[in-house]
Amino acid sequence: MGGRPLYLEPLYLEPRLGPRLRSLMAAAGTLHSLTDALGSPLHVVVPDQIAENVERFRSVYRAHHLGGQIFYAHKANRSSALLRRLAATDAGVDVASLEELQHALGAGFAPGRITATGPKNPEFLWLAARTGVTVGVDGPAELDQLAALVRKHALDRVRVLLRLSGFETAGVRVLSRRSRFGTPVAQAEELLEAVERHGDAVEATGVAFHLDTTSVAEKAAALEGCLAVLEACRSRGLRPRAVDVGGGFGVSYLAEREQWETYTSELTAAVMGRRPPLTWGGHGYGLREESGTLRGALGLYPAHRSVAGPAYLDDLLAQPAPSLGGRPLAALLLEHLYDLYTEPGRALLDQCGLTLAKVLEVRTQGSDGALLVRLAAKADDIALEDHGVLMDPVVVPRSGAAQGEGPVAVHLFGSLCLETDLITRRTVFLPRRPAPGDLLAFANTAGYAMDFHATRAQQQPAARKVAAWQDGDAWRWCLDDQFWPITPSGGVQ
Ligand SMILES: *Cc1c(COP(=O)(O)O)cnc(C)c1O
Repeated sequence: MGGRPLYLEPLYLEPRLGPRLRSLMAAAGTLHSLTDALGSPLHVVVPDQIAENVERFRSVYRAHHLGGQIFYAHKANRSSALLRRLAATDAGVDVASLEELQHALGAGFAPGRITATGPKNPEFLWLAARTGVTVGVDGPAELDQLAALVRKHALDRVRVLLRLSGFETAGVRVLSRRSRFGTPVAQAEELLEAVERHGDAVEATGVAFHLDTTSVAEKAAALEGCLAVLEACRSRGLRPRAVDVGGGFGVSYLAEREQWETYTSELTAAVMGRRPPLTWGGHGYGLREESGTLRGALGLYPAHRSVAGPAYLDDLLAQPAPSLGGRPLAALLLEHLYDLYTEPGRALLDQCGLTLAKVLEVRTQGSDGALLVRLAAKADDIALEDHGVLMDPVVVPRSGAAQGEGPVAVHLFGSLCLETDLITRRTVFLPRRPAPGDLLAFANTAGYAMDFHATRAQQQPAARKVAAWQDGDAWRWCLDDQFWPITPSGGVQ
């Protein structure tokens, strides 16, 4: 194998695999015939999983006796199969572009199950208003624009969610980060005045926030701030009933907490020069060494999380509201009979898919003793790294039985003529040496890692996508856009 044995102990970051992904990974014959037919890279989505994930979120609502809706944040994956399977549940969808709105309507979502958020062009706003979708508005200017459009085209009154940001709480020193979106709560009165002014054209049905943070305390402060704004609405005679807490419930990607903790402390040691490098070119993922001192901050997703997804929502709802007698947020929502809206993206896509890439070449090179493994995929086809998610791929051998010696340290390269086309800058440890023709299966890529960053650089096609489902012991599949949730093609029976 060559190379100096600089890596004494392999540092694994094994993916957490639920029953469906575990079974799919084990179906090596199916995965190889899929990539033989459709090429590498290939995304495989598992629509039945999203329905199960919706049910898990619902059970948190039930546990707190709360009503409301779960809106899947569509931007996290373009898949038609996932969206159509979701349409067969009672969940809703949150769309952030004209195309996503058209996609949702075409997948079977009635407008009452759709919210439209984010920056909106006039066409998006018109189609949302025309069909009666609920529109998340960022501020008075957007309300003015929407109201003018409603009047000009003689449309029905549009339901709006008022997006807020810049929350602060008295006592506890938690200030939510600055956001491009939403109206700072300090200026909520102006927004409510605009709602009153446009009472003929819009109806405020709730208030909303979305914070891109893992901090429960920050979100609890925001939810508490929303409750105060709802009170202000009532005193004006407005009757919004929903609080939309956005997304960001997160996913735990790794199977073992200990692997994550060991890895991050070894990475720190490598940055400090106390052990051989763990990355290509000594990259530190935000950490650096300056005259013997560790600087910077680790810019990585917390790949192992003890509380994520529905459990995170549960945790949030159990947080006390200091300004409201310290009572739990869930109790306050229930007492006012407010509806709880959530907009999970990543969390609803947990365990909903994987990405396959064929090994083209395995080469011994470089001074660090690691193998160079070149894949038939571009870095943007497997965008885990873009989201700071570090997780090992699983080797799916061509020959069925595992053969190569191991463990080995490898660098994973993509197929572009670009020094920077690394699937990950991290040195990856694999339990055995892969061979050309093997597949590497990257688990849990459905949330943002499949198509959010996809390009057609060097005219290489973007990865295709298939939908797969279990039929007894076998896996069946079809092209993603051929999937509908009716038998025999899978899903709803
Ligand atoms: C992206 C986004 C979400 C989903 O965030 P996740 O972290 O994927 O759960 C929800 N709401 C809004 C407004 C968003 O922009």
